[in-house]
Amino acid sequence: MASMSRHLIDPFNRRISYLRLSVTDRCDFRCSYCLPQDHRDFAEPAHWLTFDEIEQVVRAFASLGVRRIRITGGEPLARRRLSQLAARLHAVPGIEDLSLSTNANQLKKHAIALKAAGVSRINVSLDSLRADRFMEITGTGRLPKVLEGLMAAKAAGFAPIKINMVAMKGINDNEIPDMVRFCIGHGFTLRLIETMPVGDTGRHAVDHYLDLSEVREQLAQEFDLVPAVMPGGGPARYLQVRNTDLRIGFITPISQHFCETCNRVRLAVDGTLYLCLGQENSVALRPLLRAGISDMDLGEVLTAAIAKKPERHEFREQPEKIVRFMSYTGG
Ligand code: SAM
Ligand code: SF4
Repeated sequence: MASMSRHLIDPFNRRISYLRLSVTDRCDFRCSYCLPQDHRDFAEPAHWLTFDEIEQVVRAFASLGVRRIRITGGEPLARRRLSQLAARLHAVPGIEDLSLSTNANQLKKHAIALKAAGVSRINVSLDSLRADRFMEITGTGRLPKVLEGLMAAKAAGFAPIKINMVAMKGINDNEIPDMVRFCIGHGFTLRLIETMPVGDTGRHAVDHYLDLSEVREQLAQEFDLVPAVMPGGGPARYLQVRNTDLRIGFITPISQHFCETCNRVRLAVDGTLYLCLGQENSVALRPLLRAGISDMDLGEVLTAAIAKKPERHEFREQPEKIVRFMSYTGG
């Protein structure tokens, strides 16, 4: 096996240490900016990477210096036996941080098993605390289940728990201060996200695009905000509400892109490795895995792939470029 001291460095001198793993492109929600209401065109189950195949890819990445894995989707809890996969990935030598992004609809029943499997951090999508608005955004009336899931995660000892809120003008922007108070009350971290033109749904959502620098100014009128740091390897810039534990992260792929510090690549459910969320550059790993590629050769393939990582997305310049849905690539 390759030496544990090897690193993946891309042509722009960025070290790749983080893999986001889409374990399914299916989802029990239909968030307006992510999946179309009538979407049926999911990847064939026969094309999903098996747990063995996922583990092999993670092992190869870990041998090349990748230290963090985030399990995402689609809705990862829609993939059966997810905790078993989590335990296997947690056991891969070199993996130091295993995290999960979820809509929390099914989190209550899985929280304890996920914690026991070695998932240390959880991000939960939550764009509204109002039942009617939650229904409008997600296409479901599952807000109570999501809140139960969040409380179960807290009780299971996950820390930090981050709330991901996609901030949309005219949809949920007037609710951001309420979400700040909700997060202060429960000890959650809040991350506000700008809408990205990924897939048709993402492009339509851009009609409600909100520049987060405006939100920051508005919040500063109500809350005493001071600069803060937050461990986690992500691109968010954080502020803390003075005299509370609440940190608010601003994820600004559009108004202030952070590509120069990008440290990640994404593995889609069908084994396609995407080198950038906003570009088409990819490598199909599934055929290689199914042909029985060795860990050593897979490491070579991954090293060659990273040498083709694009410099940056072009969401502003070419918003029509990415046709695949976020749920497929792994948001
Ligand atoms: N289902 C899980 C969830 O919702 O957290 C994991 C997958 S979801 C695709 C991951 C993240 O991508 C969520 O926080 C979601 O809000 C975000 N997302 C999806 N489409 C987006 C878009 N067009 N612009 C910005 N964020 C988006
Ligand atoms: Fe599902 Fe997450 Fe996409 Fe919402 S954002 S539709 S919960 S994958």
